[in-house]
Amino acid sequence: MQILINHSTYTLAQYYHGVKNGGFEFIRRFFDYPKCLICGAYHCYKFLGFYFRPVFDEHGTFFKDFPIARFECLRKGSNLTVPHKTFSLLPYQLIPYCKYSIPFIFKILEMKYINNKSTMKIQELLSKYEDANGYIDLAQSTLFKFKNLIEATINKLLAFEYYPELIKNMLCLKTDNERITYFIKFALSFTCFKLSFKIRGPCTLGYDFFSIGGGHIKNSHFLFGTPSQFRF
Ligand SMILES: [Zn+2]
Ligand SMILES: [Zn+2]
Repeated sequence: MQILINHSTYTLAQYYHGVKNGGFEFIRRFFDYPKCLICGAYHCYKFLGFYFRPVFDEHGTFFKDFPIARFECLRKGSNLTVPHKTFSLLPYQLIPYCKYSIPFIFKILEMKYINNKSTMKIQELLSKYEDANGYIDLAQSTLFKFKNLIEATINKLLAFEYYPELIKNMLCLKTDNERITYFIKFALSFTCFKLSFKIRGPCTLGYDFFSIGGGHIKNSHFLFGTPSQFRF
């Protein structure tokens, strides 16, 4: 099971170094929920340690060992939300099972759909990032993956109806490209007034969507990507 955590105004690089230097103490500032997310019991879950995954942050910096905190449910309660034994805390800029962070994906999509950069120019840039990090993907398939992700995201937004204004405007648009362009602009300018600190943009939208759905208390859906508990 995966949930999103909002570690306020920290960037991914700051989170990375925060964990390197502070370990679990750094994470605890953002997550100290008293009940177990899986069984609902108090004093149940136990910190298992970090697992490491690859991440491209908003600047295209590659972290091959980006740390994610993982906890185990000791089954002190009996009301299981999911059949899983563990849950992990994903920083809200990340997407389950995807090494590209949300702001990185939007940077690329903005170039393509807002600034009308040619696909070749973008592929050139993508391969530069990937080569420099010794981690090569076919740039073309990466771009295709991003487009698929955004289309799935748009479908979720339309199905969940959390943002009526967006739906109203979206339904007037005829082509896929127009919808994608509109969505990118909407996400880039999105501001959440419910949070005490001012953060904006697509990651904030993702976190807001997760919160409206009830967040970790209600095992909400993610706007970007699909966490383990919703994969079958
Ligand atoms: Zn538990
Ligand atoms: Zn962000």
